Amino acid sequence: MPVRATKRGDARTPISGDYDVLICGASFAGLTVARELAGTGANVLVLDRYEIGERQTSACAAPTEWLDKLGLGPAVKQTFQDLLVHRPAKHFGDPPRDHRWTLPWTFSTFDYRHLCALLAEQGEAEFDTAKVERRGAEGDGQLITVVTDRGELRAPIVIDALGWRRVLSQRSTIQPPKATLSRGLEVHPPANGVDLELWLDPKYIGPGYSWAFPADDEVRIGVGSFDPALDVKQPTLELVADEGLPAEGWQGNYIPHKLRRATEDGVFFVGDSAGHCLPTTAEGIRPALYFGLALGRELRAVIEGRQSREQALQRYAAFHDEHRFAYDWLLRVQRMVGFANPRPLMDTAMKLFTRQGFVDWSFNHYLDICPPSFIDDGAPVATPQQAPVAALA
Ligand SMILES: Cc1cc2nc3c(=O)[nH]c(=O)nc-3n(C[C@H](O)[C@H](O)[C@H](O)COP(=O)(O)OP(=O)(O)OC[C@H]3O[C@@H](n4cnc5c(N)ncnc54)[C@H](O)[C@@H]3O)c2cc1C
Repeated sequence: MPVRATKRGDARTPISGDYDVLICGASFAGLTVARELAGTGANVLVLDRYEIGERQTSACAAPTEWLDKLGLGPAVKQTFQDLLVHRPAKHFGDPPRDHRWTLPWTFSTFDYRHLCALLAEQGEAEFDTAKVERRGAEGDGQLITVVTDRGELRAPIVIDALGWRRVLSQRSTIQPPKATLSRGLEVHPPANGVDLELWLDPKYIGPGYSWAFPADDEVRIGVGSFDPALDVKQPTLELVADEGLPAEGWQGNYIPHKLRRATEDGVFFVGDSAGHCLPTTAEGIRPALYFGLALGRELRAVIEGRQSREQALQRYAAFHDEHRFAYDWLLRVQRMVGFANPRPLMDTAMKLFTRQGFVDWSFNHYLDICPPSFIDDGAPVATPQQAPVAALA
């Protein structure tokens, strides 16, 4: 049972004030943006309804190279070179069919609380707990007001890294079951495992997949549906029972599977709030880190007077849009998986993955959507040649 550390009762004193940067959401995306602003001298506040790392919202598996390059390696619990994919038996009474894919790079599971602590240490931001409720009425000049349950805060640069609800949007309401969302649910029973496992088995879910990700002393085991209206609890219970494990330590959430707008009325959106989670795989941690770095670099250029906030809004939106082709393509694959999963067509597709060359090609292309080399690149910070316009009053 996680220990609740969030401020309660008398400790929840009112908060108010003006900051240079207000980052709403202290998970993968928000903490990465904060990390990129370290050393700028900007007055940065990170807000979350929970303490940092208090509430895990994922199975926490990501490409190892991303974790190592960001200095997050100490949070790793287990590393995998192979992916073990289960398909149902072809004929009644036959055993299920297993496919072992050796990946061209490794995935690692990690400890959420530890990783968040490491990311937060790399930043120099102030942190406080508050529930972000909405965007407030327009402030003075360029200041944007954010309304929380503890008071109102203002800043010229505001980031929504609050996950799928996109709380600071003033436009469309993104609500299930009609929204472009998937949903995932899992349990974390204490157990050991050696393989990173996926089930493409309509017994558990047709449009989606199921997984078991071992993490040292527990296995994160659950079901994801590309259709947010489908029940994922019953199939999760079935899968856990089939694996002979207890259904303990539940956690789940909705997951956007379509890119949304990266900026809106002066606010920056990053991670799930911008729809950065990758369709088909629902891998959202690596993109949250990647777009968090990109946004952080743009904002650093604003703080250092190398570009204006408006230029950062435009450049970040353009960077986000450059990825539309890959995201749309993955969404098409997701729809195909949803269609083919219960049919023999999926077995035909699986034959492609018996060729190591195809596994390497597809997984390398997939990694290239948000490549680890981006960490070293330092792009896309605005160049000093651009007209310096101080955005911060
Ligand atoms: C069951 C499940 C398993 C998953 N497994 C994986 C996986 O293994 N690998 C992977 O890459 N992806 C996985 N994902 C997807 C991944 O979890 C998300 O894409 C990722 O967490 C997005 O990061 P984020 O920082 O944008 O948002 P989140 O991690 O959702 O963080 C949002 C933050 O905002 C805070 N917040 C929300 N609302 C408010 C509010 N009103 N006021 C204040 N604070 C608020 C939350 O407390 C949280 O800290 C999984 C998702 C699910 C549901």
